Amino acid sequence: MHFLPKKQGLKGVVQTLTQFLGWSVLNTDTYDKMNKLENRKDIAQEMLMHHLKCTPQELQSILKTNEKLNKNVDDCEQKEMMKILKEELPDPAALELYEFHFSDLPVSEHELIKSGIRLFVELNALDKFKVPAEVMTKWMYTVRKGYRDITYHNWRHGFNVGQTMFTLLMTGKLKKYYSDLEAFAMVAAAFCHDIDHRGTNNLYQMKSAAPLAKLHGSSILERHHLEFSKTLLEDESLNIFQNLNKRQFENVIHLFEVAIIATDLALYFKKRTMFQKIVDAAEQMKSEEEVIKYIITDQTKKEIIMAMMMTGCDLSAITKPWEVQSKVALMVANEFWEQGDLERTVLQQQPIPMMDRNKAEELPKLQVGFIDFVCTFVYKEFSRFHKEITPMFDGLQNNRVQWKTQADVYDEKMKALEEQQKKHENDVGAKKADGEAGGEDNGPSKSKTCTVL
Ligand SMILES: [Zn+2]
Repeated sequence: MHFLPKKQGLKGVVQTLTQFLGWSVLNTDTYDKMNKLENRKDIAQEMLMHHLKCTPQELQSILKTNEKLNKNVDDCEQKEMMKILKEELPDPAALELYEFHFSDLPVSEHELIKSGIRLFVELNALDKFKVPAEVMTKWMYTVRKGYRDITYHNWRHGFNVGQTMFTLLMTGKLKKYYSDLEAFAMVAAAFCHDIDHRGTNNLYQMKSAAPLAKLHGSSILERHHLEFSKTLLEDESLNIFQNLNKRQFENVIHLFEVAIIATDLALYFKKRTMFQKIVDAAEQMKSEEEVIKYIITDQTKKEIIMAMMMTGCDLSAITKPWEVQSKVALMVANEFWEQGDLERTVLQQQPIPMMDRNKAEELPKLQVGFIDFVCTFVYKEFSRFHKEITPMFDGLQNNRVQWKTQADVYDEKMKALEEQQKKHENDVGAKKADGEAGGEDNGPSKSKTCTVL
């Protein structure tokens, strides 16, 4: 049935419908409310950005124009500022920024902000894409401030993921499949990937009916990290991509989307076979040129590799030297246990063993399982793809030996306890039988054994 003129657009349809249903009054009211809501949102965002953004004093702690030139940032030339900045940034060799075994533990959080900027200088991104020194510094500082001071998903984790992305590209030689701009975007996205993490996972957001879960249907936190990162770039004083053309900027935002959403481990299992197919095909090829051509001519392949790189970066703590891995694993576990505590107190639910601090002794066994079912594939395939990435796989295997040894010790302990318990039960049973046969009271001896145990 056609009761509307054919050429009427959507606006006309809505108008006819509202008139027909007598909604015009209600509509004005709804529009009014929506406008107010929009304004409230803008004000909240403005307040947030005010407190979040790198302050002039914080900027001067890295880009020391006052101290070195007796001038404000606004009165300096780019050349002068770039010189000051480069003097202030750490030496990549001293901090081992090109190494897979890099550790943030001896480095201060402030030094990590400078190290982050150093990685972009190493990529030559500032010169090539005309990133003003003060914008780079403010953005990196603000990203750091966007991370909450929680047990594991804090700025240190954010930095490590950025540093591993850089190392995969440079030391791992994966850069050859990506343009300079793509590499710039990938490292920037890696730094931002967990920004404003709350220390609880997606399932917790859903179970606690958090507003975030109501806003995003899937990959809840990842979508939030992405939105947050994009909000920072909307502020021109933080937009490190401000001198790109429209097409380049859109490309960067697309890469941010693919890279940050890819850190949802729930999606990792789906992309595994696709990645394996690329590695299989590359292995059969005769020359490096052939492999490069096979990959760079297909955007999908580039994005699958990039998504897997993000997983490799996100889980990289599991590949670090044992002294680092054992410490970081405890931080991860502590954050999980804190969530478990919340599940008990707030949700009145029993947490899963991984998040139950009463089952802390099971950590080594859980780590072995995590290595076998999640991590091994990533680093084994990347090592097969590029032999330069083998140090990550070696580190992983070494950590598996360590965790397995601890898990076996725990197993032995549990077995011994079980046997002791069995023996005790048998003894009690035998004594009880004796007592019944002899008509004696075995009460006191039973309680005595129990006290010993
Ligand atoms: Zn992460």
